[in-house]
Amino acid sequence: MFTLLELQDWLARLGAKPQHARRVYRAMLNVAAWPTLTDEKFPKKLREAIPEIRTKVESVLRIVHQDDATENEAAKLLFALQDGQTIESVLLPREGVCVSSQVGCAVGCVFCMTGKGGLIRQLDALEIIAQVAYARQVRPDTRKVAFMGMGEPSHNLRAVMTAIEFLGAYGDFPHKNLVLSTVGDQRVFDMLETSTVKPALAVSLHSTIDEKRRQLLPKAGRLSVDSLVEQAESYARATGYPTQYQWTLIDGLNDGDDELERIKHYLAGKYAMMNFIPVNVVEGSPYQRPPIERCAAMARFLHQNHIVAKLRHSAAQEVQGGCGQLRARKLQEK
Ligand code: SF4
Repeated sequence: MFTLLELQDWLARLGAKPQHARRVYRAMLNVAAWPTLTDEKFPKKLREAIPEIRTKVESVLRIVHQDDATENEAAKLLFALQDGQTIESVLLPREGVCVSSQVGCAVGCVFCMTGKGGLIRQLDALEIIAQVAYARQVRPDTRKVAFMGMGEPSHNLRAVMTAIEFLGAYGDFPHKNLVLSTVGDQRVFDMLETSTVKPALAVSLHSTIDEKRRQLLPKAGRLSVDSLVEQAESYARATGYPTQYQWTLIDGLNDGDDELERIKHYLAGKYAMMNFIPVNVVEGSPYQRPPIERCAAMARFLHQNHIVAKLRHSAAQEVQGGCGQLRARKLQEK
């Protein structure tokens, strides 16, 4: 497996100074041209090695499936990694891409296909960056990256933060357009406090009741909802980016008035917004979506209580399949 660290070492061995490495990284992200053989601003050894570097970087991922879609539609992508493992990304409408941070996931959310298989392996930072590089090739206007695909970013935090830093430094991504999503883990808050890059924060809440969260997200960290909301709020105030709470709506499980009252209690007056996303229905799964009227009424209730709330259909849903489903289907076909 070719890693970001290996790339950095290689460039150093070729005599690349920071400005030369920067140009290579920007070329990888399709915001600058690759240096050419005649470009004398670059060390000769580096110029000569560019085709090989490019091939190596581009071989980190191989596209095996891409939905047909216009620029304004979501399109699911399936990539094969060098060891044959596969991961999903989603090109989002409105200039975004949703990337994976792990192969599989250890959190085991009961409604998620990725969680069913457990964690297979961590992604290297370069494998995360390569997903964005691909998105930039096929949709050059890509300006937003959500770390919301397969995997829990806090379980591969070093690689995710390295990728965020790389994209912020070389990809012209405003930091608020880099959205780090988490089920809530103390390590995320500790790391964000000291990090020079400040991404926006999305928190997968799904319930305001600690015990119920433990059932829905069995291997999420043990942060209480109190502590989660409190720490997310201070981060939002410090950065100026509202916390984006995610709530997968499941019929009869977390769509009751009790939850709504508790959301109101937690989020009223906070610098935050709530995204309700009806669950992606998986064959054989007991989890169903609430009636659409109920979903809309929940968002309306929060609005009436001055809490920004949106009812969304996940991009994954639009492309017929939630996180992990395309991968699972392709594995089955194999
Ligand atoms: S929803 Fe996210 S955190 Fe939960 S199991 Fe799936 S990939 Fe992991």
